[in-house]
Amino acid sequence: MSRDAVDAIIDEKRVKIVVDLKPALDEETLIARIEREIAEMQPNEFFSELLRKLVPKQLVVPLAKEVDFHSKTYVSKLTDAEKLRLVKILKGMVFPISDYAPFQYAIVTAGGVDCSEVNKYTMESTLVKGLYFAGEVLDIDANTGGYNMQVAFSTGRLAGQLKK
Ligand SMILES: Cc1cc2nc3c(=O)[nH]c(=O)nc-3n(C[C@H](O)[C@H](O)[C@H](O)COP(=O)(O)OP(=O)(O)OC[C@H]3O[C@@H](n4cnc5c(N)ncnc54)[C@H](O)[C@@H]3O)c2cc1C
Repeated sequence: MSRDAVDAIIDEKRVKIVVDLKPALDEETLIARIEREIAEMQPNEFFSELLRKLVPKQLVVPLAKEVDFHSKTYVSKLTDAEKLRLVKILKGMVFPISDYAPFQYAIVTAGGVDCSEVNKYTMESTLVKGLYFAGEVLDIDANTGGYNMQVAFSTGRLAGQLKK
């Protein structure tokens, strides 16, 4: 998704992603959950405190802005229409993507030597005898979390086991 978003930004397209912040709950269950939270709160508690029970702290103010209901307003003042708007936004919050992180934050390179031109048992090039590849130089990119390092270690070990 990130790759598609970056390509679209480079092509000067407007990019936004829509995120369901409550994927485990359908709209009906979510409205019931909100009603229950409100029933358990004091009438003079703020809307932000209700939101805090539903989303991570950093999302409270942006979410209140989206609902168009000030975060420091009493929760008892929330109308049915506003509750419904909150549910709709929780089920499909729109995040405009304005930019992407610069190259110095890059973790892995996409592209490189085509794996179909590499012997997967020895890492030797199928085009140039005696030429071996390992790690980043190959056209493999995985999620962060150790997979790229595993690629580097495994292909490095294979490439290092030169056949006599
Ligand atoms: C900030 C950051 C965070 C990352 N986090 C993760 C992560 O959490 N999990 C994960 O799996 N992967 C992560 N990676 C990716 C992972 O580190 C790399 O995929 C992996 O190190 C690649 O190993 P490599 O040996 O192929 O290449 P490199 O580690 O890049 O090694 C290449 C070496 O070649 C040397 N070199 C370059 N040119 C020459 C030359 N002409 N002559 C001699 N030597 C040369 C370089 O100095 C370097 O030491 C991260 C990468 C970065 C940058």
